[in-house]
Order: sequence, then C-alpha cells, then structure tokens
Amino acid sequence: MTPVPAPDLDTIVSLAKRRGFVFPSAEIYGGFANAYDYGPLGVEMKRNIRDAWWRFMVRERDDVVGVDAALITNPRVWVASGHVANFTDPLVDCRKCQQRFRADHLEEGAYGPVQRDANGNIVCPNDGGELTEPRQFNMMFKTQVGPVASDDNVAYLPPETAQGIFMNFENVLQSMRRKLPFGIAQTRVSFRNEITPGKFVFRTLEFEQMEMEYFCKPGTDLEWYRYWVEERLRWYTDVIGIDRARLRLREHEKEELSHYSAGTTDIEYLFPWGWGELEGVADRTDYDLKAHAAQSGKPITYFDEETNEHIVPFVVEPAAGLTRTLAVALLDAYDEETDDKGETRVVLRLRPNVAPVKVAVLPLSKNEALRPAARRVYDLLRPLWMTQYDETQSIGRRYRRQDEIGTPICVTVDFQTVGEKGEAGDDAVTIRERDSMQQLRVPIGALADALRERLPGC
Ligand code: ATP
Repeated sequence: MTPVPAPDLDTIVSLAKRRGFVFPSAEIYGGFANAYDYGPLGVEMKRNIRDAWWRFMVRERDDVVGVDAALITNPRVWVASGHVANFTDPLVDCRKCQQRFRADHLEEGAYGPVQRDANGNIVCPNDGGELTEPRQFNMMFKTQVGPVASDDNVAYLPPETAQGIFMNFENVLQSMRRKLPFGIAQTRVSFRNEITPGKFVFRTLEFEQMEMEYFCKPGTDLEWYRYWVEERLRWYTDVIGIDRARLRLREHEKEELSHYSAGTTDIEYLFPWGWGELEGVADRTDYDLKAHAAQSGKPITYFDEETNEHIVPFVVEPAAGLTRTLAVALLDAYDEETDDKGETRVVLRLRPNVAPVKVAVLPLSKNEALRPAARRVYDLLRPLWMTQYDETQSIGRRYRRQDEIGTPICVTVDFQTVGEKGEAGDDAVTIRERDSMQQLRVPIGALADALRERLPGC
C-alpha cells in the first residue's frame, strides 16, 4: 500500500499559530528566518514529548542515566570532536535568482524534482538558473567569553548534545558505578547556522535534541546499533503514536556517513514534501572518546574486569529532534471529518500523552447555577492533569475548539448534575471522547478513575 503523506504544511502552520502552539518569532519586525516561538500549547506539547522520551530512554530502563551539561564550554571540545573542521554543509547559489540551496539536498530532490542542463549539471529548481560551485560552510555559531573579542576567547554554541555526554563519561562511570553496556542521555537545545530556508519547525536555528550515547564493548556495537534502531522506531509508533506507514528506515551509503560514523540509519517521516529525517541512529565507534583523549592528553578508558584490560568503549547514538518530532506529531495527528449536517470537524488525533491539554471542563452554559459544580470538577482534575476550563460560546463550538487542539476528553457539567426546579442533581457529569464522540455519564466521585483509564501514560 502506498503511504499517504501528511496534510499540507500551511494547514498545520496556520492551526499552530491560531491555536497557540507555535508562533513565528519577532513577527512585528517581519519575523526572523528559521526562528519560532512556542506558545502555551506548544510548550506543553514539547514538555510531553520530552517526558515521554525520558521515561522510555531513562526511567523505564536500568542501564541509562541522565546528565545536563553546560552549553558553553571549552572550545577544544569542538576541535577534538571534528566539528571545527568538518561540521559543514555544501552550499550553492543560483546565479540568476540568488537563492541558496544545500547541494546534498538538491541531489536528493528535497527542493522538488532534480532538473539538469544539457551537460547534466543540476540547475536551480526555481528558475533553471546556473548554480555556483559548492562552498563548505561551517554551521557552528561562534561567540566569545569575556569582554574582548579575540581568537583566544572564542567559544561555540553547541550544534549537538553528544559532546557534553562524552565530557562526562568518566564522571558518570565513577559516580554511578556503571558497567558496560550503559547509556547517558541528555535533552537540551542545540544551535546550527542553517542558512537554507527551513520548513516551519522542521529546520530552525535553535532546536531541542534528545540524545543518548550508549557505551558498549568493542565488537558488540553493531548488535546494539541494530537494537537501538528498532527501539527508537518503536518509540515513534507505540509511544508517540505516529502512523507506521509514514515512517521508514534508511541506512546511509558509505559516502554519506558523518566523519565519526561506521553506520547510520535515519528514521524518516513522509512529510508533505517527501521523506525527511526525524532521527539518526549512528554507530560512532570509539571516535569521540579517542579524539578527546588525544586532544586532552588524558586517556579515557574503561577497565574490563573480565579480561583485566583497559578498553575504549564503542558508542551507539540515537539522536532525535524534539521540535521536529513536535512538527511530525501535529502533521500526523491532523484529521478532518464531515458530519451529517455537512459541517467539517477538525480533529488532532494526538495520543493523550502527547496532547497539550488532557481534559476540558465545560459547563453546559454560562448559567450561574452550573458554575460551583463545574469549578469543583475543575479543582478536582487540575492537580492530576493539564486541564482547561471554558464556559464561553455554545457547547458545540467548545467541543470543536477542544477537538482542534487534540484534547482527548471533555467533561460537561449540566443541569442534571446540579438539579433543577427544586430537584436534587445526580452529582454526575458527561464525559465525551474526542475520537468516537461517545458520551458517558459518570458520578463525580468516580470521575478521576474513569479518566485515568482513558488517559494512558499521562
Ligand atoms: P538534517 O540532514 O535534516 O540537517 P542532520 O542529519 O544534520 O539533519 P543530526 O545531526 O543527525 O541531523 O541531528 C539529529 C536530529 O536533530 C535530526 O534527526 C533532527 O530531528 C534534529 N535536527 C537537526 N538539525 C535540526 C534543525 N536545524 N532544526 C530542527 N531539528 C533539527
């Protein structure tokens, strides 16, 4: 079966802005290329994805621990890692329209079908113009520490989180009494001077990454590499709920491998513009630990008690983009349905653990008589889950609003709850499920348990 690509990007970009997920940065100044801000719902969703990753990679395992390393650190780290010399993108410019492209992405057809001139040279995908020779461009942002700008106090903003983990390999080994194999995980912001036009939060100047370095004995790295490719794919399908048909694994060709890698597999998603990377799983061999030992003059090794030898561990790295995952979760969850009256319902079918709001408490109307019970339900639920209270506009519109932001459950308080015309109420509420739109009456006393069942992983 041919997989169906996610809906067009404009639909998601506009929903994300209208409903408070993601805003273009500094809009009153005309924005800023490849920079976005996260709104009230985006920030919740980011936290949910980060927590889901941490739970899967650290808390639910015995063999992985976390760190949070300094962003700005000794620049020799980036010399040893090879980033100062090698962290470059090949760029070409169109001589006609001056637009800039990444040469590797042009070849992959990322800007549309590859067009060539009579000599077989790739030409500008916009206007068929001639392209310049590729120039290597280093993508690290430079800054300086201290008041005077000089070559002696240059520092870099980290383009990945892995080096902060390598810097702490021995600290963790000793303080946590670890034995191989074990992993160190980290989630935090990374910076890359991306100069080709990004696509929403798919490619931005700063973005959050979720990375783990899994240290293992030399010779076992291939096995762990295969294991982590499968584990990470399972995270996207079983934890984040991404459609398996829109995911694929793509192993890098030899020429495509990074300077440190013996093997890399990308987990790719079928974006509206074609397949694109969501995560890279790489066998980084012993490249980094050896490079840091050489640069610092201090050996970094592990004492293998079985063989009585000091060895340099090999490393397998699953490196995921948090903000790119957020874009994929939004794209993948987007759905439109037409009801019996011909009205369109937009639904974000987000997994409850990813959805920014888990429960909405909606009094049937603004009537004063409903408010105390509705507030009581709200106060009961908000310590347990991210809950919204909304009493404006008709109940139908409020359901639609919640569907559009992916809220899995709405709880409605009506006159049956509080009683009417002198009759006692049933102290029960209606819960309505986003996907099935089914409604069920539940006593307030049993509400938390009923929701717990419907909000797995929250
Ligand atoms: P690409 O080829 O798309 O530039 P990459 O191969 O350089 O990605 P990695 O270095 O493997 O990316 O980084 C790991 C993950 O970090 C990527 O799979 C992606 O999810 C995320 N990522 C990388 N660059 C960006 C960016 N500029 N904006 C948002 N996320 C990014």
